[in-house]
Amino acid sequence: MTQVQAFLEQLYHKFKGVSEGRVASYIPELARANPDWFGISIVTLDGRTYEVGDVAQKFTIQSISKVFVYAMALEDYGREKLLKKVGVEPTGDPFNSLIRLDEDSKRPDNPMVNAGAIATTGLIPGKDPAERLNRLLAMFQRYVGDEVFVDVSTFISERSTGHRNRAMAHLMLNFGMIDQPIDEALDLYFQQCAVLVTAHDLAVMAATLANQGVNPITGQRAVGAEHVRDILSVMYTCGMYNFAGEWAFRVGIPAKSGVSGGILAVVPNQAGIAVFSPPLDSRGNSVRGLKVFEALSREYGFHLFDLS
Ligand code: GLU
Repeated sequence: MTQVQAFLEQLYHKFKGVSEGRVASYIPELARANPDWFGISIVTLDGRTYEVGDVAQKFTIQSISKVFVYAMALEDYGREKLLKKVGVEPTGDPFNSLIRLDEDSKRPDNPMVNAGAIATTGLIPGKDPAERLNRLLAMFQRYVGDEVFVDVSTFISERSTGHRNRAMAHLMLNFGMIDQPIDEALDLYFQQCAVLVTAHDLAVMAATLANQGVNPITGQRAVGAEHVRDILSVMYTCGMYNFAGEWAFRVGIPAKSGVSGGILAVVPNQAGIAVFSPPLDSRGNSVRGLKVFEALSREYGFHLFDLS
C-alpha cells in the first residue's frame, strides 16, 4: 500500500466515529442521507486515484455546482462582462442571506452565494429550458468524464420548498440585478443543485481544474485554461460559506462546499480532492470534511503560502 493510501485510511478511521454535525433537512430530500456516509477521494494529475470509504455513494452536488456554472458563464461572457453582472467579493454572510440585496446593490456579491449563483445560472444562453439544461449537463459531463443525471426527487423537493431562493430571485428582479425570467432561472438552478455525483466524481472534477481545465482521466478539455485562474480565485475567497477566511487560513487551497456534505478542493498542478460526509456544522460545511482537509493540508504542505 502506498503512503498516501495508508494516510487516507488512517484519517478515515480516525474521523469515522465523529458524531458532531447535522444532516441538512431544509430541503426535505436531503434529510434522507445517512450520517455515517464518509468517503475521501484523491485524483492526481497523472491519473492515480487514492480513495477510502463511500466514494461511490451518489449524492446531489448542491452548491458545488456553482463553481462549474460560473466557469461556464466565464466562457460564455468573458470575465469583464460577467463581472458587471456578478461580483467577486466575499460576504461573510450565510450562503442564503438576503440582507445585501437592497436598493444600493447593483449585482450580487459573488457567484458562490445563492443570490450570485441564481443570477449566474439565469445567464446561461439557450433557446429554451431544455436546451439550457442540456448544455449544463454536457458541461458537467466533461468534468466528470461520464454521463450525469438530475435526481428528480431532490429537484422537486427543493422546487416546492425553496421559498427563500425564490424570494431572493424576486428581490434581484425588483432591484434590476437580473432581467431573465426568474422561474426558468430558478428551475435550472434547482436542477443544477440536484445533479448526482460521487466523491470520486468530485475529485476528478477538482483534478480537471488543477490540470488547467483538462480532465486528467479522459484527456478532454472541460473549460478554457484562461478561465481557471478566475475560477480558483473565487473558490479561494468565497467557496466555503462564512468560513471562507478561516479555511484559507487553515487549509489554504481553493475549495467549494455543499449542503449535501461534499467538499471539493483543488491543489493546483497536483491533484483534486473530495470528501463526502453529510453531517454539517453551523455554517454548512461537512464536519468530517473539514477535519480531513486540515489534516491533509498539514501532512502534505498543501497550503498555497506554505513556503517552507
Ligand atoms: N440547493 C441549495 C440551496 O440553494 C444549495 C445550497 C448549498 O449547497 O449551499 O439552498
